[in-house]
Amino acid sequence: MNTNSEKPELGIYIHIPFCIKKCYYCDFISYSDKFSIQKEYIQKIKEEIQAQKHIIKRYNITTIYIGGGTPSSIESSGIVEILKEIKSINAGTEENKKEITIEINPGTITMQKLKDYKEAGINRISIGLQTTNNELLKNIGRIHSLEDFEKSYNLIKEAGFKNINVDLMIGLPKQTIEDIKESIEKVINLNPKPKHISVYSLIIEENTKFEKMLEENKLKLPDDETERMQYEYVKNKLELAGYKHYEISNFAIPGYESKHNSNCWEQKEYIGFGIAAHSYIDKVRMSNTINLKEYLNTSTKEPNEEYKKIYNKSNLPIKIGIKTINEIQNKEDEEKEYMLLGLRKIDGVSISKFKQKFYENPIFLFKKELAKLADEKLIEIDLDTIRLTRKGLDLANIVWEEFI
Ligand code: SF4
Repeated sequence: MNTNSEKPELGIYIHIPFCIKKCYYCDFISYSDKFSIQKEYIQKIKEEIQAQKHIIKRYNITTIYIGGGTPSSIESSGIVEILKEIKSINAGTEENKKEITIEINPGTITMQKLKDYKEAGINRISIGLQTTNNELLKNIGRIHSLEDFEKSYNLIKEAGFKNINVDLMIGLPKQTIEDIKESIEKVINLNPKPKHISVYSLIIEENTKFEKMLEENKLKLPDDETERMQYEYVKNKLELAGYKHYEISNFAIPGYESKHNSNCWEQKEYIGFGIAAHSYIDKVRMSNTINLKEYLNTSTKEPNEEYKKIYNKSNLPIKIGIKTINEIQNKEDEEKEYMLLGLRKIDGVSISKFKQKFYENPIFLFKKELAKLADEKLIEIDLDTIRLTRKGLDLANIVWEEFI
C-alpha cells in the first residue's frame, strides 16, 4: 500500500453558499435568505464526500479551501463536521503540513468560531476587506465598515492565526488613487502584517446589481488608464513592502503563497464539494449543479457505468446527477491549458517542467502563438521561462486567448 506522501496531491474545495447580504458586484452562487437550510446543506456535502471516498483515498490531500459565499456566516459546527468527514476518509500522516483555508467576512466571526476552526485544523484565514473607505464599502454593498474589519482582524490575531490573507479591490466606482494608497498603507501597517494580499479588479458580471446600474447609466467606472495606474501603484507599493508578486492578482511574503491556488495554476488535481463546486480529476473537468434544490434533492451516487459510456462521446457538456462533465482533455487540451494557467504566474511557465510533463518542447509546439505574442511584446522568453511582460500583465486576456 502506498503511504500518503507517495500518492499524487489533491486539493479539496468546499463551497458554502450563504451570505448575510449580496454585494452589488458579486455573481458567485450565494444566498442571503437560506440560512435555515444550512444543516441540510452540510449533511448533503458530507454525503457527497462519502460518495467520492474512492477518489479521496487515492490521493494525498495537501490543501483544503473552504470558500463561498461567506463560510464564517454559518455555525462553525457545520465547518467542523465537514473537516471531520474528510479526515475520517483520508487522515494522512502529514496532517500538520496541510494548508486549510477558510474565507471569512468582517463582522461574521466570534472568538468561539475561530477557536473551533483552529481545533478543526484550519490554519489560514482569508478575510474580505476590499477597501478601507467606508463610503466605498457602502457603495459596493458590503455589510461591514473598516472598524468591523479591524475588530475581526484583532480577533483572528488573538486566536493565534498567523497565516492571514486580506482581499482588496481596485477599479471600484468613484475609487481614487488616494483611496487605494490609503487601503494599501492601512493593510501593510496592520499588526501583524498579513502574509498574503489579493488585489482584484472589479469586473461587471452578468445579473448583478452593478450590471443593471451600468445599463441604466447609474454607475461610473474608472477608465482603463486610471485602473492601470491603480494596479501599477499596488504592485510597486506591495513589492517595496516585501511582498512577492507571484500571480496576476496575488502578493505574498515569500513562503506564504497560497498552496491551494498555486496547485490549480500548476494544473494539479482538485475535487469540489457543494453547489457550483468544480473538480479536475483524471484530466476531466466537472462542475456541480448551480441549482440549490437540485443539489439537495439529487443522489450523490454517481453511476460508474454511465461515466464509462460517456468517456467515449464527444458531445459535451453532459449532466450526470449533480455533476456536469465539461471537458475530457486530450493531450493537446492539457498542454494548452497548462500554458494558459502557467502564464497567470509571474514566474511564468518553466520550459523544462513542460518538457518533463509532456515530453515536448513548448517553444516548438506553440511556435506560432509565442512568436506573435513576443512580437507584440506581451511575453518574454529566456533560457527556461516563458512569462508575461509588464505590458502582458495589463493585457493578459489577449495572451490567454492564444491558448483557448
Ligand atoms: S460576501 Fe463575497 S460571496 Fe458574499 S455576496 Fe459579497 S462578494 Fe459575494
